[in-house]
Amino acid sequence: MNPTNIQLIRGFKDILPGETELWQHIERTAITLFEDFGYREIRIPIMEKTELFARSIGEDTDIVEKEMYTFADRGGDLLTLRPEATACICRSYIQHKMAAQDPVRKFYTIGPMFRRERPQKGRYRQFYQIDAEIFGIAAPFADIELIFLLRTLFDRLNVTDTTAHVNSLGCPVCRPRFKAALAQILDQAAPHLCADCLRRKDRNPLRVLDCKVPGCRKAMAGAPSILDYLCDDCRTHFSTVTDTLAKLGVPFEIDKQLVRGLDYYTRTAFEIQTGALGAQSAVAGGGRYDGLIESLGGPAMP
Ligand SMILES: [Zn+2]
Ligand SMILES: [Zn+2]
Repeated sequence: MNPTNIQLIRGFKDILPGETELWQHIERTAITLFEDFGYREIRIPIMEKTELFARSIGEDTDIVEKEMYTFADRGGDLLTLRPEATACICRSYIQHKMAAQDPVRKFYTIGPMFRRERPQKGRYRQFYQIDAEIFGIAAPFADIELIFLLRTLFDRLNVTDTTAHVNSLGCPVCRPRFKAALAQILDQAAPHLCADCLRRKDRNPLRVLDCKVPGCRKAMAGAPSILDYLCDDCRTHFSTVTDTLAKLGVPFEIDKQLVRGLDYYTRTAFEIQTGALGAQSAVAGGGRYDGLIESLGGPAMP
């Protein structure tokens, strides 16, 4: 056998001196800002039981169906390299019974995440996230604080053309009404939908709304807006978010197609988009997850 040079894995990347200084600058800027806002660092493992992500992100999402690095370890346990941080931090919050001591917590973490996506320009299978979480606050000011914080972070990094895209995904009271209305449109649109959307149509219909395939976008252009189906509490919550963003001078757009690819979001979902990156315009995203901690076996905690 010929010795050949071993190359790094496709979709992975070395970050070399010359570039690492930029990473350090971004990380230090984020750490300073988050700590000034009262967030504290949490470090969580890179691997968790697969069940954690299947139950939180949702079985019928692209991440869980197609993109996770999952394997059986030598003891037979099914393990996954973390595809995102929120579920891991919730697991830690529950496991260390933080709600019993002081339910209101603000955390940040920085590190690699792993998703086996199709490699494309600027996207890697090991990618890095700066993550911030707020626990224990039901009021919309938590949502506003995070969006404001991200806007401030990008300003400090001289990424000044950002716009926050915001939507509400409703709650267990009002979302079923929207899903029922959506189901009718989906049946009519079915002949024009891509194979993924035909599968999503019955199992996870909201995801059809953010499919990027042109045929699907066209077929769904006349779809109802979830904002027309919100219950009174969700509507008040969302209008407080948008009114306050306006008062704070944070540029935003209401984006009724924005659903994000995870099942656990309730009410506010958002993305920060910039014109600086071409088609891949989202540089940050997130949302509220009022039911997630309880669904993972913890207390009912927004
Ligand atoms: Zn609602
Ligand atoms: Zn589609």
